[in-house]
Amino acid sequence: MVDESKCLFCRIARGEIPAKKVYEDADTLAFLDINPRNPGHTLVIPKKHYETLMEMPDGEAGNYFASIKKLASMVMKGVNAQGISVANSNGQAAGQVVAHVHFHVIPRFSTETPPGLESILSSKRLDEKTMDQIAEGITKASGKPTEQPRPEPEPVERPSLESVPKPSSLKQPEGEEHKKKQVKKEFKDFEDEDGISFDF
Ligand code: AMP
Ligand code: ZN
Repeated sequence: MVDESKCLFCRIARGEIPAKKVYEDADTLAFLDINPRNPGHTLVIPKKHYETLMEMPDGEAGNYFASIKKLASMVMKGVNAQGISVANSNGQAAGQVVAHVHFHVIPRFSTETPPGLESILSSKRLDEKTMDQIAEGITKASGKPTEQPRPEPEPVERPSLESVPKPSSLKQPEGEEHKKKQVKKEFKDFEDEDGISFDF
């Protein structure tokens, strides 16, 4: 846990450490990365201290994303780039060095290689079963089913207690003998109509 008073990006947000600011609003600040991966490489941070994206409340994350999108357009136009890569690392395992949420907005040029995600991580071959297990694990992690919710069943009108017949007046369930008689009668009717006979 990083102390906000010592956090590098909190200090930049408070104006205690200089930075080449390119955008600022009530909640967000954007400034040039001191070690640019390309000219125009910009960091976009929330002014409030959160170590990772997952800690940000949904409402704040929504506004933050709107600012990142705005910066993507600004940077692309500002340095005449042909593309933009947006990158964000959360946790040491992901390579996060500064423990204050930040998105890298990096201009990309058609002269560069390699152009895509391959420049960050090489792709792995995973078999179908493993992919299914991974998908299931991620899906379950939300705690909510991903399929469409089933429509609510129509409300069933329940009879009032008064209208429910007393046990003594309930009809006995139809027995096997009764059912046989019913089937015979139906075949008899069929015989009469078409002149075909059946043996039982
Ligand atoms: P990350 O590795 O995703 O945590 O990215 C941290 C980034 O912060 C790196 O790209 C650094 O170059 C950048 N950085 C570190 N100190 C400063 C600073 N004082 N001003 C601007 N960028 C910085
Ligand atoms: Zn901070």
